[in-house]
Amino acid sequence: MLRMEEKIRKEGQILPGGILKVGNFLNQQIDTAFLYEIGEEIARLFEGSGTNKILTIESSGIAIAAAAGMLMKVPVVFAKKHKTSNVDGDIYSVSVHSFTHGMDYNVVVSNDYLTADDRVLLVDDFLANGNALNGLVDLCSQAGAEVTGAAVAIEKRFQGGGDALRRRGIRIESLACIESMEDDKLTFCQI
Ligand code: 5GP
Repeated sequence: MLRMEEKIRKEGQILPGGILKVGNFLNQQIDTAFLYEIGEEIARLFEGSGTNKILTIESSGIAIAAAAGMLMKVPVVFAKKHKTSNVDGDIYSVSVHSFTHGMDYNVVVSNDYLTADDRVLLVDDFLANGNALNGLVDLCSQAGAEVTGAAVAIEKRFQGGGDALRRRGIRIESLACIESMEDDKLTFCQI
């Protein structure tokens, strides 16, 4: 998606530790007109996939997931980051290492909202090492739900998470794909 690349070039900021800051349009302040375009693009990519639910992880995936859900006319479920003591028998849970916070979260979703009848599209803002999406795939398999694919706004390909998921046979669509990122030099993938 060319518009995503343009936004990153104009408004993104490379931080130490391989972090791209997109607080101006995605993570802190949301460019709502652009969010609508993101929703349209995800809906276009996954048209005909039979998706009947979107699953994301709180909190930064929620806006994109909601935009895609509105355009695809499907409900959006978000997995919550809970303490282990809050987990009970009615909940699917998985431990996910957070790239940005450098700690592990016990991520949970109620079994009321994810079932074996669901065909689930996973949505997130970033795909880096793949821990967040792997966790969501795990929650779906606990529920017996089928994964139709994953849509991410920005894939940092140099971290390898996207390609590992593709090797597992999961369809991954990234709206912008970053091949490399150093200091102030950012290169997009040649597709
Ligand atoms: P992964 O689990 O694939 O390693 O990382 C994905 C998660 O970490 C996303 O949910 C996202 O919130 C966060 N993340 C990873 N890399 C970045 C980044 O460069 N910038 C921001 N803002 N978030 C990131």
